[in-house]
Amino acid sequence: MENNEPKTIHEFDFELICDYFSTLERQGPGSREATLRALGFVGESLTAQSLVADLGCGTGGQTVTLAQNTAARIVGIDLFAKFTDKLNANARKLGLNDRLTAQTASMDNPPFAPESLDGIWCEGAIYNIGFERGLREWRPLLKPHAFVAATEASWFTDERPAAVEAFWHEAYAGIDTIPNKIAQMQRCGYALTAAFALPETCWTDNFYAPQAKAQRLFLERHPHNATARELVANQRREADMYARYHRYYGYVFYIGRKTA
Ligand code: SAH
Repeated sequence: MENNEPKTIHEFDFELICDYFSTLERQGPGSREATLRALGFVGESLTAQSLVADLGCGTGGQTVTLAQNTAARIVGIDLFAKFTDKLNANARKLGLNDRLTAQTASMDNPPFAPESLDGIWCEGAIYNIGFERGLREWRPLLKPHAFVAATEASWFTDERPAAVEAFWHEAYAGIDTIPNKIAQMQRCGYALTAAFALPETCWTDNFYAPQAKAQRLFLERHPHNATARELVANQRREADMYARYHRYYGYVFYIGRKTA
């Protein structure tokens, strides 16, 4: 590290994690097509007066797609300034900055007034606070009948090999079957509009393949750094898991509307 400020292990980890992911276009599985497909269920309700929040936007792959394909004002929120800075720079470059801005804030207290949002978007990020908790806590921010569209890790079968169960128990114990996730959504005060599984390419081509190259450069930037090596090993384990067990789990896009 260049400066001499003492760092907690967490600050150090966060910096490394940001450095690792900020070079990637996406920080989670997804695709422009999947974003557009989800938007197809709710986008027609959006006008130039609409406000949509993209929570856990990362560097904003999907946030840009939302801005380019609706008339709405879009505000991306992410915990990390490195990501929101990159999204703001990108929005300026694309001439979208009059309608697309990013703010550094937490999804556990999103900076929006009650009933101010026409929609909440959240790709590959709601796991940070948990699906049910996110849906419940964000609901008051939505206008009546406004939408939520979120991808969430889901089981595709009722039974799974023990190895993949153990992996997810450690990574995100909130993973559940699609019917259970839909029930959670309805319990939190939303009517289901649609749910669809993301295609495998959202994980393989769009998430893990770009990481393979980024990992080499990352390790060159952080030689002799055990935490960096561990981070890369972790990401590789995750990719291996997906290669082996993708029939059992994936991301599902859940789209619903706030019941009045
Ligand atoms: N939506 C992006 C990023 C997904 S990765 C994409 O699909 O590419 C998850 C993102 O959630 C990361 O950018 C991470 O910084 C962010 N994040 C983690 N905890 C958060 C919190 N409490 N509030 C807001 N963002 C958070």
